[in-house]
Amino acid sequence: MTLEDRTCVVTGASRGIGRAIAEEFGRHGANVVVNYRSSEGMAAETVDRVEAAGGSAVSTQADVSDAEAVAAMAEATREAFGPADVLVNNAGMTIDKKFENMSPADWQQVIDVNLGGVFNCTNAYFEDIKTAEDGRLINISSVVGQQGNYGQANYATTKSGLFGFTRTLALELASEGSTANCVAPGFVETDMLETVPERVKEKILRRIPLDRFATPEDVAGIVRFVASEDAGYMTGQILAVNGGMEW
Ligand code: NAP
Repeated sequence: MTLEDRTCVVTGASRGIGRAIAEEFGRHGANVVVNYRSSEGMAAETVDRVEAAGGSAVSTQADVSDAEAVAAMAEATREAFGPADVLVNNAGMTIDKKFENMSPADWQQVIDVNLGGVFNCTNAYFEDIKTAEDGRLINISSVVGQQGNYGQANYATTKSGLFGFTRTLALELASEGSTANCVAPGFVETDMLETVPERVKEKILRRIPLDRFATPEDVAGIVRFVASEDAGYMTGQILAVNGGMEW
């Protein structure tokens, strides 16, 4: 029970990687805040799964790109479980198009959610994480932030941006003993991967030495390790969970 009584906020936890992280945290005794944007029923199912796994959980609706909604979520967190010890900035989205077809709105929407959302959530929970014993900021990036990817100029930019953000926050949190790290998954079997055409998926698979896509659980176990006391001397790092893809 490496996370017993720790308050852990997971953004975008109604499905996919976020749900697996929430469940894994529950398995290790955490109090989990399950954030979602619109999938209320699925977020409720995540709460049930966390509780069945042995943790406690509440769900909280907030679009991470909306600073006021995020501030209200932070207040609700403190009311339910006290200040946050762990924040996982996981919520993310894609609008995939070749650059020549990408409108300013396609660009801005992805920036607002994937980077603006990380700013808003980190801002709302910053004092909690800074003053927590063994506070943890964990940002979910992507192999795409390391390699770039055809049709993902907006998304790749946000995922690379997290590297500089994480490194800087690691420096600024270090004096308090809190850490900031990035987990950079490869290609993971979730709804997000479902949007990729089959022929492109086959091409990607040929580049993965372990010869399979990741499961959300492959990522969740690493995130749980980073959140735990065992990872206390690791900060400012990018943990690649990508089946051996080069970058
Ligand atoms: P997913 O299955 O599409 O789920 C996205 C999650 O984020 C959902 O819970 C969704 O909530 C939430 N979300 C989206 N926009 C939001 C917003 N504005 N405010 C609050 N929540 C929002 O995605 P995933 O594959 O699990 O990806 C999770 C993270 O891992 C993302 O940051 C993604 O970039 C990263 N990642 C994914 C892969 C992959 O291959 N799947 C690879 C590397 C990195 P609703 O259900 O309410 O919409």
